[in-house]
Amino acid sequence: MPPIPGSGLAKGLAVTLRTMTKKSVTAQYPDVQPELPPRSRGVIGLFEENCTVCMLCARECPDWCIYIDSHKETVPAAAPGGRERSRNVLDRFAIDFSLCMYCGICIEVCPFDALFWSPEFEYAETDILELTHERDRLREWMWTVPEPPALDPGAEEPKEIAAARKTAEKLEAQRAQEAQQQEEEEGKE
Ligand code: SF4
Ligand code: SF4
Repeated sequence: MPPIPGSGLAKGLAVTLRTMTKKSVTAQYPDVQPELPPRSRGVIGLFEENCTVCMLCARECPDWCIYIDSHKETVPAAAPGGRERSRNVLDRFAIDFSLCMYCGICIEVCPFDALFWSPEFEYAETDILELTHERDRLREWMWTVPEPPALDPGAEEPKEIAAARKTAEKLEAQRAQEAQQQEEEEGKE
């Protein structure tokens, strides 16, 4: 059956009428910053103090885009007669974001919580070579990492927090006991 003349125009106008009454969803970036979900994979931040240079992240990265250099240092014995220890010192930690596929494997495998996702995304460059970012920049991004979400009310208390709480309670009880003993001694005098 041949199309009715003007039906295409009517359909097009119907679409226009339908959409012109709806609120626009266009984001006026960069004048208005987008509200990103807290777990957005923008860039990877490095918390250098936690890094032991175990190389696990670099070995597991499917793109081989993490570059780590380090050297060994001897730490003197903590007590007389003790043994000297050697430890790794980080010299370079860089990620080539032109190769990175944002899979998150490096963050998952880091046993020492040294890598985190940051929602920061404004690091585009006109030269691809400048997308390799060194430890200072990775560290700056660390401060843009959002706080972890609160635990569910019924969730088990994390081991680290439980241990810190128990130690604090023990110290508090010890102090209270000492204060009570002192009061009693002062009362006797
Ligand atoms: S997110 Fe994936 S590809 Fe990117 S550095 Fe980490 S492991 Fe490598
Ligand atoms: S896995 Fe973690 S601790 Fe090991 S080198 Fe990578 S960032 Fe450092």
